[in-house]
Amino acid sequence: MIQLYIPLNFLGVIYREIKQSLADMERLFSLLDQNKEIADKPDTQALVTQGAEVCFSHVDFSYEEKRQILFDVDFTIAAGTTTAVVGHSGSGKSTLSRLLFRFYDVNQGAILIDGQDVRDVTQASLRQAIGIVPQDTVLFNDTIAYNIAYGKPGASHDDIVAAARSAYIHEFIESLPDGYNTMVGERGLKLSGGEKQRVAIARTLLKHPAILIFDEATSALDSKSEQAIQAQLKEIAQNRTTLIIAHRLSTIADAAQILVLDRGRIIERGTHMQLLAADGAYAQMWMRQQARPDDALASSPDGIDG
Ligand code: ADP
Ligand code: MG
Repeated sequence: MIQLYIPLNFLGVIYREIKQSLADMERLFSLLDQNKEIADKPDTQALVTQGAEVCFSHVDFSYEEKRQILFDVDFTIAAGTTTAVVGHSGSGKSTLSRLLFRFYDVNQGAILIDGQDVRDVTQASLRQAIGIVPQDTVLFNDTIAYNIAYGKPGASHDDIVAAARSAYIHEFIESLPDGYNTMVGERGLKLSGGEKQRVAIARTLLKHPAILIFDEATSALDSKSEQAIQAQLKEIAQNRTTLIIAHRLSTIADAAQILVLDRGRIIERGTHMQLLAADGAYAQMWMRQQARPDDALASSPDGIDG
């Protein structure tokens, strides 16, 4: 993601800016990964959310001119409900979340939040409204408290502890020699995939976004740990507009809507029961995973997810 040709002093500027403003994770990504063409138009208004209905309207998208990634992707996540996206590695699932965040603009169609085109609102307000629990959580070389507080600059210690409790990581933190002041990250205590994900959940709880995106971890977790994390996420997702990118189908069986993405196209949609009854691609994936619970989609022969 960090392109090597970015001059080092540019990275230094970014780093200082982030340190100064305590900008959130998504801002970090936006600074490093942002397409230069993405900019606020003059007189752009802030996004105003009511229930935060999310609508992808006939979206076509390609990163590079010659290779189209999404084809006429069209769906609505009703306010406060959960939609899950499943599909093999490379089918375009994570691209959906990048587009909702407006790291890139669509080529055709539009993405709307409560009727407002994401291109017509300020990026700051858009990113404030969306919380991502990513596939791989990046920790800063700082204390675990700092890493959690990243969700909400200026959060009090009590806020941080409350979020950590809700993410079921408080007791783990208390058990560390330096508690909340324990240094983590590359140069500090290494956390497991599950622990890092809990930090990300705590961050997101602090941020309290109208829209939640959860890009499920793949190989980092066995299915039992993943189930525990899923239970927490279900709590966070309650009454919040949520997009789950799922690898283990058992974790999304109660989603209001499931989309099956195949090479950039939605090939099936419905509830778990409807899709099983339809006896198509989803039903096949379901049977396969029932037979081998640890066999997530990403570990299919199609390749490792990225
Ligand atoms: P998924 O999350 O379903 O595994 P992605 O949405 O990450 O898939 O990627 C969909 C396709 O887009 C893949 O073929 C991937 O190689 C390609 N892709 C992802 N990011 C970029 C990028 N920054 N530039 C070019 N191609 C990309
Ligand atoms: Mg992905």
